[in-house]
Amino acid sequence: MTATTHLPTATILGYPRLGRRRELKRAIESFWKGHTDEAALQETAGELRAATRARLVELGLPAEGGAVPESFSFYDQVLDATLALGAIPPRFADIAGSDLITYFALARGDRDHQPLEMTKWFDTNYHYSVPEIDETTPLAANPAQLVAQLAEAAEQGIESRPVIVGPVTYLLLAKASDGAGEGFRPIDRLDEVVGVYAELLAALNEAGAGWVQLDEPALVSDSLPVPRSETIALVERAYSILGGAAARPSILLTAPYGDAADALARLGSLPVEAVHADLVRGSLPEADLVSGALTSAFAETQFVAGVVDGRNIWKTDLRAAFGALERLQRAGIDVVAGTSNSLQHVPHDVRDETRLDVELASWLAFADQKIEQVVILARGLADGGAAIEAELASVDAILAARAQASGVRVDGVRGRVDAVTVADRERDHEGERRAAQQGLGIPELATTTIGSFPQTVEIRKARAAFGRGEIGQEEYDGFLRDEIARVIRLQEEIGLDVLVHGEAERNDMVQYFAELLDGFAVTEHGWVQSYGTRATRPSILWGDVSRPAPMTVSWSAYAQSLTDRPVKGMLTGPVTILAWSFVRDDQPLADTASQVALALRDEIDDLVDAGIRIVQVDEPALRELLPLDADRQAAYLDWSVGAFRLATSGAAADVQIHTHLCYSEFGEIIDAVDGLDADVTSIEAARSRMDVVEPLGEHGYSRGIGPGVYDIHSPRVPSVAEQQELIRIAAARIPGEQLWVNPDCGLKTRGYEETVASLTNLVHAARAVRAGA
Ligand code: GLN
Ligand code: ZN
Repeated sequence: MTATTHLPTATILGYPRLGRRRELKRAIESFWKGHTDEAALQETAGELRAATRARLVELGLPAEGGAVPESFSFYDQVLDATLALGAIPPRFADIAGSDLITYFALARGDRDHQPLEMTKWFDTNYHYSVPEIDETTPLAANPAQLVAQLAEAAEQGIESRPVIVGPVTYLLLAKASDGAGEGFRPIDRLDEVVGVYAELLAALNEAGAGWVQLDEPALVSDSLPVPRSETIALVERAYSILGGAAARPSILLTAPYGDAADALARLGSLPVEAVHADLVRGSLPEADLVSGALTSAFAETQFVAGVVDGRNIWKTDLRAAFGALERLQRAGIDVVAGTSNSLQHVPHDVRDETRLDVELASWLAFADQKIEQVVILARGLADGGAAIEAELASVDAILAARAQASGVRVDGVRGRVDAVTVADRERDHEGERRAAQQGLGIPELATTTIGSFPQTVEIRKARAAFGRGEIGQEEYDGFLRDEIARVIRLQEEIGLDVLVHGEAERNDMVQYFAELLDGFAVTEHGWVQSYGTRATRPSILWGDVSRPAPMTVSWSAYAQSLTDRPVKGMLTGPVTILAWSFVRDDQPLADTASQVALALRDEIDDLVDAGIRIVQVDEPALRELLPLDADRQAAYLDWSVGAFRLATSGAAADVQIHTHLCYSEFGEIIDAVDGLDADVTSIEAARSRMDVVEPLGEHGYSRGIGPGVYDIHSPRVPSVAEQQELIRIAAARIPGEQLWVNPDCGLKTRGYEETVASLTNLVHAARAVRAGA
């Protein structure tokens, strides 16, 4: 073992990767388009990495001792691990060219290759490329990128710390490739994979790395292919082997995104030099701390305490955080101040925001401010609490001001939430609703879409021009009305039964509402990577939420005025609004959800008053917020379903409520989906060929279901026959009168040509099945 260096008292697990102005996004996309070559991309990437390291040191992380993480990625950290392990699925073996060409081919596919599947990273809105492993997937250490970055850092005079997704998490997130044998699980190859990690560590050691960070968030999750107790045992096995390797850097093993308290003493006893725990989502193991078991486990292991929240944008309560650090220190543990997880989930720097209210800005901490907070805590650890008392007091004052600030607590909003009764979350019985909704005249196998129509260049241009003040409100509204009129006419021509207004007025399905609700703020540069080069700009939900004026009524009412067919009102649900915003940390999410739900409830009232008979409330994020920790799941499902019901239960029996969920993995939440009590639920189903309909059928689901018959993720036009086949499969699994016919999701990313062709085929397919074909 070569563990020699000592981790300094401050570190972070990772930093945003696209660049302060999304430079990496532009450089990569330009490379993809063939406008620049690989050398140019490598140069930009190298500059960005250098700037990032310099920034971290400037913010106060020590340049020596491995405090600065190498968390750069060209696309995704799981994909980085796939390359480092040489685990390239054989179906990509024919890709010629550099590692980077292979890397992007895995991420994005090409004419001849489907890309790796993408899915959400733990309970975040970040997506990773799912490794495909079977018995024969090659494995061979490829440390080139890791070693190159280490050398770059050394040249800058910085001893950085390479970061790799750990072996257990890597394999538990992998899927068995299509060709895998019956019963094969990727985790079956753990020992081999650990061998490759040992080679990577040896190469890093050779290249002079003092530390390496191995991320094992699998340690906190109950939603993986093996029970958590087994995950912990697998981590013990893997790290006993890795730790025993002859020539290696010191290992920092991390457990971000949740609670590993019950495993901490075991992790501390492993032959690694530092263990990280998320003390924001997670906790300290009280009994082990009191009994001294934690102290003995960490006798020779440093404890990186993730006390600064890497999932939100609020200043951390430094006094509370320092209290936790001091307890560990007093218990004789060698403690390092850190973040709960990588800062990849937060924007760069509050100081970049020029339009935020100054008071609100003073409450915020983006990545750079969080690092400053970590550095203050580290100083306290080194020099004693008195040395940072001024900083602690300053945060106390900010938090006190925040609690008192106008808008944070609004009596009217709180009074309304307090007055909510059980009955407010109950609609009439579904039988009565079915009867009352007969008047809508909706045929069997009714055809509809999920809401958005293509967001054309013209729409984006008009929005941008309006944003810059180049066109006035009247002109912009006129443009949007014409767009709505066009979309309504088009849907009538295609022959759809239930129409939508097309959502041309929305920049984003959450931000649109955030801009119109009180209690939210939006940022200029607050981008957060969603996957690859894609980023979103979550709004900041800072105060009590209310609706100063109707948000969607004029557009929906206008659309309805143009047609005799029903037009669906279109809202984003309370859970999704929370999931895709930065939420307040000073009250339970359930309370915030009720406030948003009441605002939406009022909106539905107004839509109905304006003549809308069908309202769709989208909840694509319902599954995403499901806690990783099984003990917390029931409470979550209770409040999230309750919020949806609070939003929708003001609707009379004759109003049809729809919802839309974007995914087809229902297993864990099927009761919750049923509990939403929506009259119609549309879901993704085309790619899985209607797999999701079966469990719903078996579950006794009795209301309307619209399993998507058209995969909107690609420009491919599905034929009539294809869609007809999917409708028939669905109809065999669920009674025809429950079945709706629609695409998988909204059409905003599609072009018009393929949209019109696909929807025309969809309508023909539905008609053919209705006619008995
Ligand atoms: N109504 C939204 C749309 O069609 C739903 C999008 C989503 O589910 N992500 O765009
Ligand atoms: Zn969707």
